[in-house]
Amino acid sequence: IVQWTPFFQTYKKQRYPWVQLAGHQGNFKAGPEPGTILKKLCPKEQMCFQVLMKDSLKPFVPEYKGYITTDDGELYLQLQDLLSEFSTPCVMDCKIGVRTYLEEELAKAKEKPKLRKDMYEKMIQIDPEAPTEEEHRLKGVTKPRYMVWRETISSTATLGFRIEGIRKSDGKSSKDFKTTKTRDQIIEAFQDFTDEFPYVIEKYISRLHDIRNALQISKFFATHEVIGSSLLFVHDEKNASVWLIDFAKTIILPSEVKINHDSEWIVGNHEDGYLIGLNNLIEVFTEMSKI
Ligand code: ATP
Ligand code: MG
Ligand code: MG
Repeated sequence: IVQWTPFFQTYKKQRYPWVQLAGHQGNFKAGPEPGTILKKLCPKEQMCFQVLMKDSLKPFVPEYKGYITTDDGELYLQLQDLLSEFSTPCVMDCKIGVRTYLEEELAKAKEKPKLRKDMYEKMIQIDPEAPTEEEHRLKGVTKPRYMVWRETISSTATLGFRIEGIRKSDGKSSKDFKTTKTRDQIIEAFQDFTDEFPYVIEKYISRLHDIRNALQISKFFATHEVIGSSLLFVHDEKNASVWLIDFAKTIILPSEVKINHDSEWIVGNHEDGYLIGLNNLIEVFTEMSKI
């Protein structure tokens, strides 16, 4: 059980512990206006939010309210706090896509591929059978090999999304989903996430359909490779919604490259598998709604 509350948020005279399911704890602060939070500014993410405020995806991302410099001289994005309209919400972060690193990160790792003992150790800790005979003999793996393998221990490579963290309304949270991989394991985790209020499943399905429709006409989506971005699921006893968050690794595609977000990633083709993940999420929730 992890407690993950970097600060207390105040909204409509209520004070509640804000929930952060991923990222460094120091990256977030309470915002200066009610119902807003501050996220440490990354220029790429700021660009995305500026474009998104004029895109068909606007209703599905936190509202971007500009940037500010805090007393300590750091720059922050001011964003709508997606939790503020909920009372003791259940929150889940699902990272979308068939890979969570950029093509350029893989290319850089391939430049001078050294044998890494630390990565070999991490690998055998999770799966002693993962290294090849040669890697066992050398007691090392290269970084690009490790990066590609790491996406196969969760559902990222197969289902196009993985669970980063879940917090239930009783305050219990878990980020222990690194090896949650199979469809059945995912369904079990989603069932636990929704077990107090199972009727929210229908609301999630409907919202995910709306997101898919908005993506289909989005100029932003057509021109960007969306890596490491999440869908944030939030519900309480009354309401349920989903938003797209985290665009720190979302980059504009080279003008000659077109992707459909729905086909296999082959090194160099820039496909992110965003729609593979979204479609699988819709399928899993739909199956759950029939149980
Ligand atoms: P990482 O890259 O490791 O995923 P990050 O520093 O880029 O982390 P985000 O993924 O944007 O940060 O956010 C981390 C967590 O903070 C999310 O999982 C979610 O719990 C919370 N969060 C982020 N943005 C919002 C928001 N606008 N409203 C409510 N909660 C948010
Ligand atoms: Mg994130
Ligand atoms: Mg991020």
